[in-house]
Amino acid sequence: MSLKRLKIQIQGTVQGVGFRPFVYRIAKEKNLKGFIRNNPEGVLIEVEGEEEDLKSFISDLKTKKPPLSEYTFFEIKEINLKNDKDFLILKSEEKGEKIALILPDIATCDECVKEIFDSENRRFNYPFTNCTNCGPRFSIIQNIPYDRKNTTMKIFKMCPECKEEYENPLERRFHAQPNACPVCGPYVYLTDSEGKLICKRKSAIEKTVQFLKEGKIIALKGIGGFQLLTNALSDKCVLELRKRKKRDEKPFAIMFKNIEHIKKYAFISEIEEKVLLSPQAPILIVKAKRNTDLSKYCAPDNPYIGVMIPYTPLHHLIMSKIDFPLICTSGNLTEEPIAFKNEEALSRLKNIADYFLMNNRPIERYIDDSVVKIINEKPVITRRARGYAPMPFILKKTLPQILALGPYLKNTIAISKFNRIIVSQHIGDLDNEKSFNAFKKVIEDFKKLFEFKPELIVCDAHPEYLSTKYGEEISKKENIPLIKVFHHHAHIASCMIENKTEEKVLGVSWDGTGYGRDGKIWGGEFLICDFKDFERFATFREFGLLGGDRAIKEPRRSAIGVLYEIFGEDIFDTDFEPVRSLSENEKKIFKSAYRKNLSIFRTTSAGRLFDAVSSILGLRQKITYEGQSAMMLEWLAENYKGNLNSFYDFEIKKYEYYVIDWILLFKGIIDDLKNKKEKSFIAYKFHLTLSEIIKKISEIAGNYKIILSGGVFQNKLLTELVFRKIKGKKVYMHSRIPPNDGGISVGQIIIGANLI
Ligand code: ZN
Ligand code: ZN
Ligand code: FE
Repeated sequence: MSLKRLKIQIQGTVQGVGFRPFVYRIAKEKNLKGFIRNNPEGVLIEVEGEEEDLKSFISDLKTKKPPLSEYTFFEIKEINLKNDKDFLILKSEEKGEKIALILPDIATCDECVKEIFDSENRRFNYPFTNCTNCGPRFSIIQNIPYDRKNTTMKIFKMCPECKEEYENPLERRFHAQPNACPVCGPYVYLTDSEGKLICKRKSAIEKTVQFLKEGKIIALKGIGGFQLLTNALSDKCVLELRKRKKRDEKPFAIMFKNIEHIKKYAFISEIEEKVLLSPQAPILIVKAKRNTDLSKYCAPDNPYIGVMIPYTPLHHLIMSKIDFPLICTSGNLTEEPIAFKNEEALSRLKNIADYFLMNNRPIERYIDDSVVKIINEKPVITRRARGYAPMPFILKKTLPQILALGPYLKNTIAISKFNRIIVSQHIGDLDNEKSFNAFKKVIEDFKKLFEFKPELIVCDAHPEYLSTKYGEEISKKENIPLIKVFHHHAHIASCMIENKTEEKVLGVSWDGTGYGRDGKIWGGEFLICDFKDFERFATFREFGLLGGDRAIKEPRRSAIGVLYEIFGEDIFDTDFEPVRSLSENEKKIFKSAYRKNLSIFRTTSAGRLFDAVSSILGLRQKITYEGQSAMMLEWLAENYKGNLNSFYDFEIKKYEYYVIDWILLFKGIIDDLKNKKEKSFIAYKFHLTLSEIIKKISEIAGNYKIILSGGVFQNKLLTELVFRKIKGKKVYMHSRIPPNDGGISVGQIIIGANLI
């Protein structure tokens, strides 16, 4: 037997994720001496002991690490023995350590799940069970440092048994700030819709289960806000919830008992299973099986469903007692922020929910469920909230303190401090007072929580966005410089950040809308850019949209704009679906608007081209949620089972930048339609043509990395076709930062930092 000492440097996400207690535990277990200390790059460990024990220590380090930790660098060196007497967690006075401890809420770990179902355990049936590896964090922290007294758990005094766990480094609950048990912690209680108490604790859960079985709608106080639950197999329940929530067709997320339960209703690949079971436990968009007993109103006319599994003990306890899946949607009226305070929830949701499953653990800030889908074998976060926010993006260099306000749709804000960019949880569309107030609140919250003082403010270039106006206002009031960043530049920069690319790239920014340099609505852009500046390299041919961004809700307006470019006024005498959908009066209004060029906004939006095709194929003339008609076109294209390789004609013309003229493309679609070609064939061919366009433009541009960003790249089929088509070049897409406007704030930060 020989003694050895190892020096281990680890980089990555290793601070504030329960990493030091974990290392302490395994070192103690194996009777090793030495220390662990945080350092600027990550952690430094020195351990000495028997060679066998060291081996098993290294193996545990690699295979048993806490769920949130991630290694990007791992180096072991042998050094001289120091004959330490003990293993210690050494203090470090690093800047950034205090904010490094502000981490996301994490799904209940397997060990905690075991405890709540173990009748011998003192946490049997206890809905607030958690440990260092799981439980609430971002939703309960009120101040830094992250310590019990700075969380909403401060009102509960730990009992001796909980305190012992909390103070013992060998326990799974060492410094688990929300540690609690039935003796000392929060409890649940059930009320009616007037807030009148019905029962508490165990019987509240039993009664909730009974009500769910009876087809009632329950408002449940979850980890980051209220959720609305009802039986997902019952048309009556789901339709009633739609009516009360004023949500016509937008899909509801569905919670299932476990993966096996989901597999009855949806196709789950290996990677999808991994995402569902991850500590973040998001809503995952998966392909639904046909002819199941799931209510078709969960996701009307939609081949996909959003699924999740229980991620808090309370969800586990409820799901274990029922054998049907539950609608599990945010507790709000459509488009409003989610309710998260007891009183507020009662007043806002009393006309939606029959009963309220409340608890007395306050939620400090609201956090929605996150949404993920798999594209090109990679998870792509399309709504970043619970489980992910506020996990920082760590850069190589230190940035000034910058506040980025995001754009308008699916808004997030972001801040930079030290070498981190921290993006807020999903806030929502800034189109009503409640969400604008929520937006302002998140900014104040971030200032306090991250001890953040902006030296620079960055906003979108759109003069009418509420976020822009707010930026102008506080810039003036607080005398902080303001930089306006163009929407599509920010999209590409956000995708460059996550792919760690700094050199000039060819960015493909395709989405519905975005204010351009010429004041027009851009959205089909190819930009050659870096973090400082961009050149508009290519874009689509423009067309006129009556009502500008208002046309988002009416795909037929895009179709008419496109057809007007081709046929002029004659279009109003044809029987194309979008034209047929207009009343005589509407026809008159459209005709005169186009003739006089009044309220006609010129756009290059790729999102609107999807709308146009969707409308011409007769899929949808008006929509009830964002992106609906573009998605319908994608689903239709997925039904095409042939082996098509040809695409519609298009022209690329050179002006001061390249213009992709889609006239021939649409003429081709119209011909195919006349020739009674399958609509799924046309939809697929349209997707194929778009991927060909990206290939052609990238060939003209030369040897750049290709960056795909913008809401259009939530389209799985298109994105995968692009990857398939462009070989030998490096194509990059989003994963941890949403491709949609939820990612804009990140791009704004990095561009701001490069312009200051
Ligand atoms: Zn746990
Ligand atoms: Zn206790
Ligand atoms: Fe956008």
